[in-house]
Amino acid sequence: MRIPLIAGNWKMNKTITDARAFMQTVSERVPDPAEVETAIAAPAILLASMLAENPGQRLRVAAENCYYEDSGAYTGETSPQALADMGIPYVICGHSERRSYFNETNDVINRKVHAVYRNQMTPILCCDETMGRLEAGEKIHWVVSQVTGALKGITEVQARQLVIAYEPSWAIGSGQSASAAQAEEGCYLIRQTIADLYGDPVANEMRVLYGGSVNPDNIAEIMAKPNIDGVLAGGASLDAETYLKLVNYQQ
Ligand code: 13P
Repeated sequence: MRIPLIAGNWKMNKTITDARAFMQTVSERVPDPAEVETAIAAPAILLASMLAENPGQRLRVAAENCYYEDSGAYTGETSPQALADMGIPYVICGHSERRSYFNETNDVINRKVHAVYRNQMTPILCCDETMGRLEAGEKIHWVVSQVTGALKGITEVQARQLVIAYEPSWAIGSGQSASAAQAEEGCYLIRQTIADLYGDPVANEMRVLYGGSVNPDNIAEIMAKPNIDGVLAGGASLDAETYLKLVNYQQ
């Protein structure tokens, strides 16, 4: 049984004041993590304040990025070791905005995935897909190469805990979500890729999320698909009451 994961990605939004207020509203109102797991990935500068406002630890406070070395002369970077020491369980790796604005390659993302596992955290690996590649018939090759590139050297035991998010770039921030059928197709492709790399038991255990203009009106239909185990929501995770609607998608 794969426990659904309803994750938010705040991107570069909110101040410490905003983040505290969000946590005060949300942290005690999310579902029991044994039934529906909930997480908010936030900028590193906000994480300590959020953890301080999370008494029951029902909501997982996650990171949006980290560097691939644990420590050293890397001015301005976020240490995965420091994130782990704070008690951060998940780190997003390879978001399409990191790939496109910060030139992160599959090789860099692979190093980050290793760094996250090395520090006993779990990566939420994002795979994108552009409209150009979709129209050029390159979708399958593109998605598969991101998964295999990011997971080089990752063991079967590590892959079992993995979370991968299928996030078509054309659906991100556009207000135009992929249809539930398109989202299912992308998530199925990712699960098949994991089955090819690690076998069916691992593919059946790891979770695949869909991201791209998820909102309270479309989440139930997306979550009803068999290969979709959760969502990674951007805009809809910023407002406390809207995020609470997402996490209560079953009601
Ligand atoms: P939106 O939900 O704002 O489209 O963002 C999706 C996303 O990029 C989550 O990582």
